Amino acid sequence: MEVVRTISDVRQRVSAARREGKRVGFVPTMGYLHEGHLSLVDLCRERAEYCVVSIFVNPTQFGPGEDYERYPRDPERDRRLLEERGVDLVFAPEVGEMYPEEPLVRFRIEKLADHLCGPRRTGHFPGVLLVVAKLFHIVQPDVAVFGQKDFQQLLIIRRMVRDLNFPVEIVAGPTVREPDGLAMSSRNAYLSPEERARATVLYRSLQRAKALIEGGERSARSVIGAMRAMIEGTPGVHIDYIEIVDLEELRPVERLEGRVAIALAVYVGPARLIDNLVLEIRGDDVREIPAL
Ligand code: AMP
Repeated sequence: MEVVRTISDVRQRVSAARREGKRVGFVPTMGYLHEGHLSLVDLCRERAEYCVVSIFVNPTQFGPGEDYERYPRDPERDRRLLEERGVDLVFAPEVGEMYPEEPLVRFRIEKLADHLCGPRRTGHFPGVLLVVAKLFHIVQPDVAVFGQKDFQQLLIIRRMVRDLNFPVEIVAGPTVREPDGLAMSSRNAYLSPEERARATVLYRSLQRAKALIEGGERSARSVIGAMRAMIEGTPGVHIDYIEIVDLEELRPVERLEGRVAIALAVYVGPARLIDNLVLEIRGDDVREIPAL
Protein backbone atom coordinates (compact mmCIF):
# COMPACT_ATOMS: atom_id res chain seq x y z
CA MET A 1 0.00 0.00 0.00
CA GLU A 2 1.22 3.44 -0.90
CA VAL A 3 0.22 6.76 0.68
CA VAL A 4 0.41 9.77 -1.66
CA ARG A 5 -0.32 13.45 -1.09
CA THR A 6 -0.47 14.97 -4.57
CA ILE A 7 -2.96 14.79 -7.41
CA SER A 8 -0.24 13.98 -9.93
CA ASP A 9 0.91 10.99 -7.84
CA VAL A 10 -2.65 9.64 -7.73
CA ARG A 11 -3.06 10.03 -11.48
CA GLN A 12 0.21 8.27 -12.14
CA ARG A 13 -0.56 5.27 -9.85
CA VAL A 14 -4.13 4.90 -11.14
CA SER A 15 -3.01 5.08 -14.79
CA ALA A 16 -0.47 2.33 -14.13
CA ALA A 17 -3.15 0.13 -12.56
CA ARG A 18 -5.45 0.75 -15.50
CA ARG A 19 -2.73 -0.16 -17.98
CA GLU A 20 -2.57 -3.52 -16.18
CA GLY A 21 -6.29 -3.90 -16.98
CA LYS A 22 -7.43 -3.37 -13.38
CA ARG A 23 -10.84 -2.01 -12.48
CA VAL A 24 -10.47 0.96 -10.13
CA GLY A 25 -12.60 1.28 -6.98
CA PHE A 26 -12.74 4.31 -4.68
CA VAL A 27 -13.86 4.99 -1.10
CA PRO A 28 -13.79 8.68 -0.06
CA THR A 29 -13.52 9.31 3.70
CA MET A 30 -12.63 11.99 6.21
CA GLY A 31 -10.49 9.53 8.16
CA TYR A 32 -10.57 8.54 11.83
CA LEU A 33 -11.65 5.21 10.42
CA HIS A 34 -13.96 2.67 11.97
CA GLU A 35 -15.52 -0.60 10.89
CA GLY A 36 -18.17 1.30 8.87
CA HIS A 37 -15.50 2.76 6.60
CA LEU A 38 -13.68 -0.58 6.45
CA SER A 39 -16.85 -2.40 5.38
CA LEU A 40 -16.93 -0.03 2.38
CA VAL A 41 -13.32 -0.96 1.63
CA ASP A 42 -14.36 -4.64 1.61
CA LEU A 43 -17.17 -3.85 -0.87
CA CYS A 44 -14.72 -1.88 -2.98
CA ARG A 45 -12.30 -4.79 -3.11
CA GLU A 46 -15.08 -7.17 -4.15
CA ARG A 47 -15.85 -4.95 -7.14
CA ALA A 48 -12.45 -3.69 -8.22
CA GLU A 49 -8.90 -5.01 -8.46
CA TYR A 50 -7.34 -1.68 -7.47
CA CYS A 51 -8.77 0.04 -4.40
CA VAL A 52 -8.14 3.73 -3.64
CA VAL A 53 -9.17 5.37 -0.34
CA SER A 54 -9.00 9.12 0.23
CA ILE A 55 -8.59 10.68 3.64
CA PHE A 56 -9.44 14.36 3.57
CA VAL A 57 -11.34 16.47 6.09
CA ASN A 58 -13.01 18.69 3.53
CA PRO A 59 -13.32 22.28 4.80
CA THR A 60 -15.94 23.29 2.20
CA GLN A 61 -18.58 20.95 3.66
CA PHE A 62 -18.38 22.41 7.19
CA GLY A 63 -20.42 25.48 8.11
CA PRO A 64 -19.20 28.32 10.36
CA GLY A 65 -19.23 27.17 13.98
CA GLU A 66 -19.26 23.48 13.01
CA ASP A 67 -16.56 21.01 14.03
CA TYR A 68 -13.99 21.36 11.19
CA GLU A 69 -11.09 22.30 13.52
CA ARG A 70 -11.80 19.69 16.17
CA TYR A 71 -12.78 16.87 13.77
CA PRO A 72 -10.88 13.80 15.06
CA ARG A 73 -7.77 12.77 13.14
CA ASP A 74 -5.39 9.79 13.51
CA PRO A 75 -3.50 9.29 10.23
CA GLU A 76 -1.12 6.63 11.58
CA ARG A 77 -3.91 4.38 12.82
CA ASP A 78 -5.90 4.95 9.60
CA ARG A 79 -2.94 3.93 7.53
CA ARG A 80 -2.47 0.72 9.51
CA LEU A 81 -6.15 -0.25 9.25
CA LEU A 82 -6.23 0.36 5.50
CA GLU A 83 -3.06 -1.61 4.94
CA GLU A 84 -4.49 -4.56 6.90
CA ARG A 85 -7.63 -4.39 4.78
CA GLY A 86 -5.75 -4.69 1.50
CA VAL A 87 -6.10 -1.16 0.14
CA ASP A 88 -3.76 -0.36 -2.77
CA LEU A 89 -3.51 3.43 -2.61
CA VAL A 90 -4.30 6.08 0.00
CA PHE A 91 -4.72 9.68 -1.13
CA ALA A 92 -4.24 12.01 1.86
CA PRO A 93 -3.86 15.53 0.45
CA GLU A 94 -3.26 18.77 2.32
CA VAL A 95 -6.00 21.39 2.00
CA GLY A 96 -3.80 23.43 -0.35
CA GLU A 97 -3.51 20.52 -2.78
CA MET A 98 -7.29 20.24 -3.12
CA TYR A 99 -8.02 23.97 -2.90
CA PRO A 100 -4.99 25.95 -4.14
CA GLU A 101 -7.32 28.93 -4.61
CA GLU A 102 -10.87 29.73 -3.61
CA PRO A 103 -13.18 27.71 -5.85
CA LEU A 104 -15.45 30.05 -7.79
CA VAL A 105 -17.66 27.33 -9.22
CA ARG A 106 -20.15 25.78 -6.82
CA PHE A 107 -22.97 23.26 -6.85
CA ARG A 108 -26.61 24.07 -6.22
CA ILE A 109 -28.91 21.18 -5.45
CA GLU A 110 -32.59 21.19 -6.38
CA LYS A 111 -35.19 19.39 -4.25
CA LEU A 112 -32.94 16.69 -2.75
CA ALA A 113 -31.45 19.15 -0.24
CA ASP A 114 -34.77 20.80 0.71
CA HIS A 115 -35.38 18.57 3.74
CA LEU A 116 -33.48 16.54 6.35
CA CYS A 117 -29.92 17.88 6.79
CA GLY A 118 -30.13 20.23 3.76
CA PRO A 119 -31.83 23.28 5.34
CA ARG A 120 -30.07 22.79 8.71
CA ARG A 121 -26.59 22.67 7.20
CA THR A 122 -26.82 24.96 4.19
CA GLY A 123 -23.59 24.72 2.25
CA HIS A 124 -22.94 21.17 3.46
CA PHE A 125 -24.15 19.20 0.44
CA PRO A 126 -22.80 21.73 -2.10
CA GLY A 127 -19.44 21.31 -0.31
CA VAL A 128 -19.73 17.52 -0.41
CA LEU A 129 -20.50 17.55 -4.14
CA LEU A 130 -17.60 19.90 -4.81
CA VAL A 131 -15.08 17.61 -3.14
CA VAL A 132 -16.59 14.38 -4.47
CA ALA A 133 -16.66 15.74 -8.03
CA LYS A 134 -13.01 16.83 -7.69
CA LEU A 135 -12.03 13.45 -6.23
CA PHE A 136 -13.86 11.62 -9.02
CA HIS A 137 -11.94 13.66 -11.60
CA ILE A 138 -8.67 12.98 -9.80
CA VAL A 139 -9.12 9.24 -9.19
CA GLN A 140 -11.42 8.45 -12.17
CA PRO A 141 -12.82 5.33 -10.51
CA ASP A 142 -15.02 2.76 -12.22
CA VAL A 143 -16.90 2.23 -8.97
CA ALA A 144 -17.22 4.33 -5.80
CA VAL A 145 -18.64 3.13 -2.49
CA PHE A 146 -20.64 5.23 -0.01
CA GLY A 147 -22.42 4.39 3.26
CA GLN A 148 -26.16 4.38 3.73
CA LYS A 149 -25.51 5.98 7.13
CA ASP A 150 -25.29 9.26 5.22
CA PHE A 151 -28.47 8.50 3.34
CA GLN A 152 -29.20 11.97 1.93
CA GLN A 153 -25.57 12.36 0.83
CA LEU A 154 -25.75 9.00 -0.95
CA LEU A 155 -28.85 9.96 -2.94
CA ILE A 156 -27.49 13.42 -3.81
CA ILE A 157 -24.19 11.95 -5.04
CA ARG A 158 -25.99 9.33 -7.10
CA ARG A 159 -28.04 12.10 -8.69
CA MET A 160 -24.96 14.24 -9.42
CA VAL A 161 -23.39 11.24 -11.18
CA ARG A 162 -26.51 10.77 -13.32
CA ASP A 163 -27.06 14.47 -14.05
CA LEU A 164 -23.41 15.15 -14.96
CA ASN A 165 -22.66 11.79 -16.66
CA PHE A 166 -19.78 10.77 -14.44
CA PRO A 167 -18.65 7.34 -15.74
CA VAL A 168 -18.73 5.80 -12.28
CA GLU A 169 -20.99 3.23 -10.66
CA ILE A 170 -22.22 4.20 -7.19
CA VAL A 171 -22.47 1.36 -4.69
CA ALA A 172 -24.00 1.71 -1.21
CA GLY A 173 -22.92 -0.17 1.90
CA PRO A 174 -25.28 -0.87 4.83
CA THR A 175 -24.83 1.03 8.11
CA VAL A 176 -22.41 -0.73 10.44
CA ARG A 177 -23.46 -0.48 14.09
CA GLU A 178 -21.96 -1.00 17.53
CA PRO A 179 -23.34 -4.04 19.37
CA ASP A 180 -25.92 -1.81 21.13
CA GLY A 181 -27.16 -0.39 17.81
CA LEU A 182 -25.41 2.98 17.73
CA ALA A 183 -24.33 3.70 14.14
CA MET A 184 -20.56 3.89 13.95
CA SER A 185 -19.33 7.44 13.34
CA SER A 186 -16.06 9.29 13.72
CA ARG A 187 -18.07 11.83 15.72
CA ASN A 188 -18.88 9.22 18.40
CA ALA A 189 -15.39 10.11 19.67
CA TYR A 190 -16.88 13.36 21.03
CA LEU A 191 -19.11 11.47 23.49
CA SER A 192 -18.40 11.05 27.22
CA PRO A 193 -19.26 7.58 28.59
CA GLU A 194 -22.59 8.91 29.82
CA GLU A 195 -23.42 10.54 26.47
CA ARG A 196 -22.31 7.39 24.66
CA ALA A 197 -24.92 5.42 26.62
CA ARG A 198 -27.63 7.99 25.85
CA ALA A 199 -26.73 8.03 22.15
CA THR A 200 -28.35 4.62 21.66
CA VAL A 201 -31.69 6.46 21.74
CA LEU A 202 -31.36 7.21 17.99
CA TYR A 203 -31.32 3.53 17.08
CA ARG A 204 -33.89 2.61 19.72
CA SER A 205 -36.28 5.26 18.39
CA LEU A 206 -35.88 3.87 14.85
CA GLN A 207 -36.63 0.36 16.11
CA ARG A 208 -39.68 1.70 17.95
CA ALA A 209 -40.85 3.35 14.72
CA LYS A 210 -40.43 0.09 12.83
CA ALA A 211 -42.36 -1.83 15.49
CA LEU A 212 -45.24 0.67 15.33
CA ILE A 213 -45.38 0.40 11.54
CA GLU A 214 -45.26 -3.41 11.74
CA GLY A 215 -48.16 -3.12 14.17
CA GLY A 216 -50.19 -1.32 11.48
CA GLU A 217 -49.52 2.38 12.18
CA ARG A 218 -49.56 4.27 8.86
CA SER A 219 -49.52 7.89 10.00
CA ALA A 220 -46.08 9.48 9.69
CA ARG A 221 -47.08 12.11 12.24
CA SER A 222 -47.91 9.44 14.86
CA VAL A 223 -44.67 7.56 14.30
CA ILE A 224 -42.62 10.76 14.49
CA GLY A 225 -44.52 11.76 17.65
CA ALA A 226 -43.63 8.45 19.34
CA MET A 227 -39.97 8.82 18.37
CA ARG A 228 -39.94 12.42 19.58
CA ALA A 229 -41.42 11.45 22.96
CA MET A 230 -38.85 8.73 23.42
CA ILE A 231 -35.89 10.98 22.56
CA GLU A 232 -37.14 13.97 24.54
CA GLY A 233 -37.39 11.64 27.55
CA THR A 234 -33.62 11.18 27.44
CA PRO A 235 -31.67 13.82 29.38
CA GLY A 236 -28.85 15.75 27.67
CA VAL A 237 -30.06 15.18 24.11
CA HIS A 238 -32.00 17.42 21.76
CA ILE A 239 -33.61 16.74 18.43
CA ASP A 240 -32.48 18.59 15.31
CA TYR A 241 -35.07 16.83 13.14
CA ILE A 242 -37.04 13.62 12.69
CA GLU A 243 -38.57 13.18 9.23
CA ILE A 244 -40.08 10.43 7.13
CA VAL A 245 -39.50 11.01 3.41
CA ASP A 246 -39.98 9.31 0.06
CA LEU A 247 -36.90 7.95 -1.71
CA GLU A 248 -37.35 9.84 -4.98
CA GLU A 249 -37.27 13.51 -3.97
CA LEU A 250 -36.83 13.15 -0.20
CA ARG A 251 -40.10 14.92 0.52
CA PRO A 252 -41.92 14.33 3.81
CA VAL A 253 -44.78 11.83 3.48
CA GLU A 254 -48.00 11.73 5.49
CA ARG A 255 -49.06 8.14 4.87
CA LEU A 256 -46.61 5.30 5.30
CA GLU A 257 -46.83 3.27 2.12
CA GLY A 258 -44.24 2.16 -0.42
CA ARG A 259 -40.57 2.96 0.08
CA VAL A 260 -39.80 5.49 2.78
CA ALA A 261 -36.81 6.58 4.84
CA ILE A 262 -37.11 7.46 8.51
CA ALA A 263 -34.22 9.81 9.23
CA LEU A 264 -33.16 11.82 12.25
CA ALA A 265 -30.43 14.09 13.54
CA VAL A 266 -29.96 14.48 17.28
CA TYR A 267 -27.47 16.44 19.36
CA VAL A 268 -26.01 14.29 22.12
CA GLY A 269 -23.84 16.63 24.17
CA PRO A 270 -21.36 18.14 21.70
CA ALA A 271 -22.01 15.63 18.90
CA ARG A 272 -24.62 15.94 16.18
CA LEU A 273 -25.47 12.35 15.27
CA ILE A 274 -27.58 11.07 12.37
CA ASP A 275 -29.20 7.75 11.60
CA ASN A 276 -31.89 6.33 9.35
CA LEU A 277 -33.91 3.29 8.43
CA VAL A 278 -35.27 2.60 4.95
CA LEU A 279 -38.47 0.56 4.79
CA GLU A 280 -40.67 -0.88 2.10
CA ILE A 281 -44.30 -1.03 3.21
CA ARG A 282 -46.72 -3.04 1.02
CA GLY A 283 -50.05 -3.73 2.67
CA ASP A 284 -49.25 -5.55 5.92
CA ASP A 285 -45.75 -6.39 4.77
CA VAL A 286 -42.99 -4.18 6.25
CA ARG A 287 -39.34 -4.84 5.48
CA GLU A 288 -36.05 -3.06 5.77
CA ILE A 289 -34.46 -2.45 2.36
CA PRO A 290 -31.26 -0.88 1.03
CA ALA A 291 -31.52 2.80 0.03
CA LEU A 292 -30.23 2.16 -3.51
P1 AMP B 1 -16.97 10.09 6.60
O1 AMP B 1 -15.56 9.73 6.89
O2 AMP B 1 -17.82 10.25 7.81
O3 AMP B 1 -17.10 11.20 5.60
O4 AMP B 1 -17.58 8.82 5.88
C1 AMP B 1 -16.97 8.25 4.74
C2 AMP B 1 -17.90 7.19 4.17
O5 AMP B 1 -18.15 6.19 5.16
C3 AMP B 1 -19.28 7.75 3.77
O6 AMP B 1 -19.69 7.13 2.56
C4 AMP B 1 -20.14 7.33 4.93
O7 AMP B 1 -21.49 7.18 4.58
C5 AMP B 1 -19.53 6.00 5.30
N1 AMP B 1 -19.86 5.62 6.68
C6 AMP B 1 -19.75 6.40 7.80
N2 AMP B 1 -20.21 5.72 8.87
C7 AMP B 1 -20.64 4.52 8.43
C8 AMP B 1 -21.22 3.37 9.05
N3 AMP B 1 -21.46 3.33 10.37
N4 AMP B 1 -21.53 2.31 8.28
C9 AMP B 1 -21.29 2.33 6.94
N5 AMP B 1 -20.73 3.36 6.30
C10 AMP B 1 -20.41 4.45 7.02
